[in-house]
Amino acid sequence: MRLILLGPPGAGKGTQAVSIVKKYNIPHISTGDILRKNIKEGTELGNKAKEYMDKGLLVPDELVVAIVKDRLTEEDCIQGFLLDGFPRTVMQADSLDTELNSLKYELDKVINIDVSKEELIDRAVGRRVCKDCGATYHIKFNLPKAEGKCDVCGGELHQRKDDTEETVSKRIEVYLEQTKPLINYYEEKGILINIDGKQDIDKVFQDIVTALGRE
Ligand SMILES: [Zn+2]
Repeated sequence: MRLILLGPPGAGKGTQAVSIVKKYNIPHISTGDILRKNIKEGTELGNKAKEYMDKGLLVPDELVVAIVKDRLTEEDCIQGFLLDGFPRTVMQADSLDTELNSLKYELDKVINIDVSKEELIDRAVGRRVCKDCGATYHIKFNLPKAEGKCDVCGGELHQRKDDTEETVSKRIEVYLEQTKPLINYYEEKGILINIDGKQDIDKVFQDIVTALGRE
């Protein structure tokens, strides 16, 4: 099963990724992770990427594609993979297609976890994080037993600075603007599946499994 997972920040993509790779026994390829790994191991690609990041620049498309390609040639990808965090743009998607062609791989599906902007704002603005242990709560969906106190360690709960309505709203707008052409791209190829991400976690996963057509 060769898959791509798309979804805005706060849509629960991370949780679903864990369940998907477990169920289908495929590696989870997160661009962030493999980028960090390459940098840590001091690979040629990692060193190049680090040069850009040290200057505060975005790692260019070609380099990200090269790093992903390198990962896709590893043996564990023969049975499939789940790409997460890549591609982000149509240009990257095009390059990915070329690379997959040369590896004689074909994408099965692109899973898009769809959650409305309003819902995402609601989720983020209500999030509270423990100052001591980092446990997260939600003032509507996941209340701590005692108000303002962490269930795990008793630490004080606070709202992260980037969880305000304004920041979240901006974050989502940037995401939607960037990904819309990408979603259209895969829709035109006929491999996009839209999943209603507003439902609870288990139902979202069940919908993904059903849409993939492999129990
Ligand atoms: Zn705590």
